[in-house]
Parts: sequence; C-alpha cells; structure tokens
Amino acid sequence: MYYCEDCNVKNPTNRCSRCGAKNLREIRDDDYCFFGEMEATAAENLKNKLQSEGIGCALIPSGTGIRSLFALKLENCLVFIEYRAHDYVADLFAQEALRKTELLKDEVVPNLDKLFALPNDENKIRKRIKLNKTENLIELCKNVILSATKGADLGPIAGDEVERESFSLDDQNNFRYYYFANEQYEVWINAYTMRIYKANKTK
Ligand SMILES: [Zn+2]
Repeated sequence: MYYCEDCNVKNPTNRCSRCGAKNLREIRDDDYCFFGEMEATAAENLKNKLQSEGIGCALIPSGTGIRSLFALKLENCLVFIEYRAHDYVADLFAQEALRKTELLKDEVVPNLDKLFALPNDENKIRKRIKLNKTENLIELCKNVILSATKGADLGPIAGDEVERESFSLDDQNNFRYYYFANEQYEVWINAYTMRIYKANKTK
C-alpha cells in the first residue's frame, strides 16, 4: 500500500488515485488516511472512541462556505484515521451495519403477513426482476427481508395519492422507507403500511 501526502489517501499502487501523483512512498502505520465522509455528530463520536483507544483520528468539516460564515455546525466531516486502524474501523462499521439491520428486521418481521404491493407497482417489479408468473412476489419479498444481510431506514415518506385515500394524516406521518437486501434481491417497503414499493436484483 502507498500513500499520497498531498491527498492523505492510501493507494494500492504508487500512483495517487485522487491527484495522479506518481512515485508515492510506501504507507506507514501512523499515516492519517482518508476513511470516509460522515455526519458531524457521528464523526465526533467515532473520533472520541478511537482516541480513547489510542488511535489517531482527525476530522475536517466539509460543507459550503456559507454555512461556516454563519458559524453553524457543518453537517458533514471528512474523517482521517491512522492507517494501522483502517481494518479495525471498517470492521466496527460492518458490525454496526449488521446490528442495525437486525433491529430493522425485528421491527418489521412481526408484520410480514401484511406485506402487499399495488397492482401497478407489482407489474413494474415483476418485469424488472423478471419474475415467472408462477412465482409469488409477496413471498419473495418476505424471504428477502427474513434473510436480509443489509438493511437501512431511509427516512420518512411523504404520502402519495394512494396513501391519501387509504390512510389518515397521522398514519402518513409514521410512514418510513426501509431498505432490505439479501444476496439475490433488494426491496424497498413502507415499514408502517408494509407496502412494497420497489425491488431489484442485487448487483
Ligand atoms: Zn494525491
């Protein structure tokens, strides 16, 4: 592994993937490398955790200049971590992602029997994932959720016309978009109504 001192990035070859600089030197354990961009509070928490374990971590706010002029907390930070800890931190994130996926599953699995798709959505989905006529889309989506290795809460959904007719505004305020994926398929549902919006083959 090589290191670009200008960009603070690790590179598998001695040419920087970011700025194109050649003849990079070999990376050292204590080189601060770009790890990723994350929300400022999460970044601060990560930095504190790593520092308590003696691992160097540095944050650089990333956002528009206008925001910083008004001295507001910037929304995102670029996170740099000592090279020696990169695998360890990547592992922490993978474990955290799994834990979150299990929590989302725990939440929707008791309601799996309510899963439904509107005819229009179902037609689109069946075409997209090339489902045979004999295959049941609802069962397929159930299985994806039960065997999901990835899941995410993608936030609130504004009600559309169908929801406006069938659900009260109070209900609509609870609508959240959840994403689940196993090795074959990924699905997007409304975790409150259990409506299936979309499905794809996992890339
Ligand atoms: Zn570079």
